[in-house]
Amino acid sequence: MTQNPFLAPYTTPHQTAPFDKIKNEDYLPALNDGLAQGRKDVDIIVNNAAKPTFENTIVALERSGDLLGKVTSVLFNLNSAETTPELQKIVKEASPLLSEYGNDITLNEKLFGRIKAVYDQRASLKLDPESAMLLEKSYKRFSRNGANLDAKGKERLRAIDKELSQLSLQFGENVLNETNEYVMFVTDEKDLAGLPDFAKEAAKATAKQKGKEGWAFTLQAPSYGPFMQYADNRELRKKLYMAFNGRGFHGDKNDNSGIIQKMVNLRYERANLLGYKTHADFVLEESMAGSKNKVQSFLDELVTYARPAAEKQLAELTAYAKAHGFTEDKLQAWDSSYYSEKLKKEKYDLDDETLKPYFKLENVLNGVFTVANKLYGITFKERKDIPVYNSEVKTFDVFDKDGKFLAVFYGDYFPRPGKRSGAWMNDVQGQKVENGQNVRPHIINVCNFTRPTDTKPSLLTFYEVTTLFHEFGHGLHGMLANGKYESLSGTNVPRDFVELPSQVMENWCYDPEALKLFAKHYQTGEVIPNELIEKIRASQNFLAGLANLRQLRFGLVDMYYHGQKPTGESVSEVENKVDSVANLFPRVEGVAFSPAFSHIFAGGYSAGYYSYKWSEVLDADAFEFFKEKGGLDNKTAADSFRKNVLEKGGSEKPMELYKKFRGREPSPKAMLRRSGLIL
Ligand SMILES: [Zn+2]
Repeated sequence: MTQNPFLAPYTTPHQTAPFDKIKNEDYLPALNDGLAQGRKDVDIIVNNAAKPTFENTIVALERSGDLLGKVTSVLFNLNSAETTPELQKIVKEASPLLSEYGNDITLNEKLFGRIKAVYDQRASLKLDPESAMLLEKSYKRFSRNGANLDAKGKERLRAIDKELSQLSLQFGENVLNETNEYVMFVTDEKDLAGLPDFAKEAAKATAKQKGKEGWAFTLQAPSYGPFMQYADNRELRKKLYMAFNGRGFHGDKNDNSGIIQKMVNLRYERANLLGYKTHADFVLEESMAGSKNKVQSFLDELVTYARPAAEKQLAELTAYAKAHGFTEDKLQAWDSSYYSEKLKKEKYDLDDETLKPYFKLENVLNGVFTVANKLYGITFKERKDIPVYNSEVKTFDVFDKDGKFLAVFYGDYFPRPGKRSGAWMNDVQGQKVENGQNVRPHIINVCNFTRPTDTKPSLLTFYEVTTLFHEFGHGLHGMLANGKYESLSGTNVPRDFVELPSQVMENWCYDPEALKLFAKHYQTGEVIPNELIEKIRASQNFLAGLANLRQLRFGLVDMYYHGQKPTGESVSEVENKVDSVANLFPRVEGVAFSPAFSHIFAGGYSAGYYSYKWSEVLDADAFEFFKEKGGLDNKTAADSFRKNVLEKGGSEKPMELYKKFRGREPSPKAMLRRSGLIL
């Protein structure tokens, strides 16, 4: 019998996961061993006769479940990047075992008793900041899940959580039903005027699928988006808009208004039960922003800048529309994409095909390595002897500026049937210090970029270029990590902080200095012309005021629901209130966006929608510092960013880290300048 590769130390280069040796039948036995070992680790902590200490309780818990981590990191990485029906079956079997294991820990009262004992003495323990953070996180992991409640309180919390998870599931299903049940059939070809061929062809295929003649448009993004952008027929645009924005708002079985009221009330009750004033107070305790007042004033302040800019842009758009046959006084919401698209084309006329020759994948990858080298002095050396799960995956040794080994980097860039869509960064092995040894991380970037063909190399769209830089920025957060504890290392940081390293990297894609290092024509070697760089930069800010206001509107509605005692107002009343400050288009009866606002009612973004805007403010403010200090040729900003942000992970409060890096709190001015909203 061959040895289960998970159960012995890896003998590969840098102890990388032996992807070539792991077989499907290895997972569940190793997982079960891992669960048993983890439980044993916890038992030892709980039954320790010695008094609870930081070492014998907090650190011991942090170090528990080693084998389990080893198995799950491989399993979940593969299930995203290279899955098969067999692997999916294994994940299905593993998931309930893992959540049961997690619950057994967080519901273990004796374990919590020991953690609380250490936590209560925290003032006298003289812990270093990182250890103090680990103690706080360990304690909060339990207290935020009700560990301090009496039996009655715990029971109520469980009931609320159960109801909330059912409601949120129902909310999502209703949105899905509403999205899938609607079809707009078009039989007269005249009604397709303005639509590009790809949209017509897709609509024809959809109709055929449904056994109909003609064309069918749906509320799915690839059908809805182009129709709103291109269709000349205004009545049909209105019809589709009303359907899209009426989802979950028809007073029928799929109506989400009641679910929203219930969820908002239950979240408020839950927060109170756990000792917080509102749901937002509960959520934001664990964020960089830190409090609901901070978030509210952040959103309010941005509105004061975005609104006047948006008003001007809407006036420009309206004037443009009137010059092109629009006869009414005011543009409606269903006119906005349509005229924006036309105006954008007229102003910038920038398409993917013009740019793609400058962005051969290999050049862009070299470009991101060069930028990282200039900033942090790190180097990348490809190697072929690190096991991979697919021959397309490239592997690199990453070395620090002094030549010391820093990390393993895996790059997996092309779509395959077993890969989920999108792009992401992950670690296959996290960074930590154990037994005096700095265990270096193994970082992976997975994307779905344009493949090479027989005649052409892989040429990336500009969006793909920024995606590569983005994920690589997360990668740097992982590769440069330098903490003691894995659970606080690398990208283990709050959501409103985690996009800072990734988005900062994206900025270099718009920076002439960086672009000219790698944006070279794949056939002629010609460096990208200044005129194209200017177009890229200008088109990025197109109608930025309106776009900002739209994001702020979502953030404000989120905070309205979750940042105060529930008001009992209807969905329309809430949205009317927010719209009076953050929406310039006339309100329309019969539509509302809350009943399909899945981010906050079916996903994990409640009291967190602001973080999209927050992250933009951070990355713009941080990038301005890089530029102020001399760009790529000066290491002042990079050194500070590395030392205070990239190496630190979640080992200290994000706002403190940011202030150490930047010398002050983030200011929204840089984002506003970058978007052209202020000078
Ligand atoms: Zn990201």
